[in-house]
Amino acid sequence: MQIPFTDKESFIFDKIATAAGNLGLPCYLIGGFVRDKIIGRPTKDADIVCMGDGIALAQEAASFFRPKPVVAYFKNFGTAQIKLPEMEVEFVGARKESYQLSSRKPDVEPGTIENDQDRRDFTINALAISLNKEDRGALIDPFDGVKDIEAKIIRTPLAPLQTFSDDPLRMMRAIRFATQLGFTISPETFQAIIDNVHRIRIVSQERITDELNKIMLCDKPSVGWDLLFRSKLLHEIFPQLADLYGAEYIDGKGHKDNFYHTLQVLDNISVHTSDIWLRWAALLHDIGKPATKRFEEGHGWTFHGHEMVGAKMVPKLFARLKLPLNEKMRWVQKLVMLHLRPIGLTKENITDSAIRRLLFDAGEDIESLMMLCEADITSKNPLKVKRYLQNFELVRRRLLEVEESDKIRNWQPPISGELIMEKFGLTPGRPVGLIKDAIREAILDGLIPNEYQAAYDFMLQKAAELNLQAIE
Ligand code: ATP
Ligand code: MG
Repeated sequence: MQIPFTDKESFIFDKIATAAGNLGLPCYLIGGFVRDKIIGRPTKDADIVCMGDGIALAQEAASFFRPKPVVAYFKNFGTAQIKLPEMEVEFVGARKESYQLSSRKPDVEPGTIENDQDRRDFTINALAISLNKEDRGALIDPFDGVKDIEAKIIRTPLAPLQTFSDDPLRMMRAIRFATQLGFTISPETFQAIIDNVHRIRIVSQERITDELNKIMLCDKPSVGWDLLFRSKLLHEIFPQLADLYGAEYIDGKGHKDNFYHTLQVLDNISVHTSDIWLRWAALLHDIGKPATKRFEEGHGWTFHGHEMVGAKMVPKLFARLKLPLNEKMRWVQKLVMLHLRPIGLTKENITDSAIRRLLFDAGEDIESLMMLCEADITSKNPLKVKRYLQNFELVRRRLLEVEESDKIRNWQPPISGELIMEKFGLTPGRPVGLIKDAIREAILDGLIPNEYQAAYDFMLQKAAELNLQAIE
């Protein structure tokens, strides 16, 4: 099999091959780059494995490029990296590894290319291409990785139980590759994940969450979350999400399965946005449902307040998953909190005031919120879907109209606290807040227009009610 390199790639690999020749170190392209080339997937990063010192090879190779790239190296791991304008190349010495049960830190010793391929996670990731004089370009495929690429199968090169036990992160990687590439995990390999789920506990949360984020960025992230659920890895790493699973019945009345509903919402929104935080918001929008689920006689299942409970859970979940505890987290929290509000505006006879309040509360995030609500429609009845979407279309139109006339989205109080203090000789305190709140409420309720003069007059009126004397 001949792998077609671009001119740029050939140019780079020629230089690396020459450098390796100078040092007398056999070397190979290996891993994801080879896999993606065969699949025909765009790929920017290349891994090079050599029989000897990877850092020395990186340094020698770097001297062949102009301008000379910086060599970043990690002595402890024996790896080095050079960043070229069109590619990042990683160098490592071939290794033979053996693992202890209690830790995922392997004992490492130098090895052959075969040893190095043995320690790779999947057959499709164990392919190597020779950069050596005698067999330049030859594909070394000891585990039928090409066949697995053609059959779209993810399978470990050696016994899967051992492979996963050695580094349990590989279980997450199997599921991530299945989601990214649209491949199937072989039954034996999947069974080994099921049998090893508890081992995931020895893996750092950062490595786990890296994989979750990669799953989140796939075209159909539901594939990964479903595999995590079916293997029960999800119960280990994110039990609150697994709790959404299932539909309960009382007196013949059931509710929808909130886990699969959530995955559908996530896929729906992923068609429209690659924003990972909007995708996380979709995944978490109903996370408060299990905690709020009730059966009400004569009425059926309810999840009252699940948006508040869910929003409250977000910081703890982000902390547990080691997602950033910054404005991204607060943004996700806000969307979870507000996700039912637009539905409330699809009823008849909605006042401008209700529309203004949503514009005020959502602010700049109104478009993301509307996307979330539209993605939240998962009815299997196409007529219903159409009707719900039309209702949201009407809400969108009202939002536009009201925003056009009242400018609430980026609302700034027309009367500042300073002005109120100055006018009535006040120091910062409760009366100032009362007047400011009253002005805001009057504008949102439509009692007065969103304008300076109207707000000023209203301030005078409110101050009079509070027995405040204006300073002339
Ligand atoms: P991508 O870069 O798209 O995530 P990749 O296959 O290149 O995919 P990397 O994490 O860059 O993945 O790793 C490069 C190669 O190193 C892999 O193709 C695989 O051969 C090997 N590898 C990476 N992580 C592991 C692991 N945990 N266990 C075994 N082999 C691994
Ligand atoms: Mg890679």
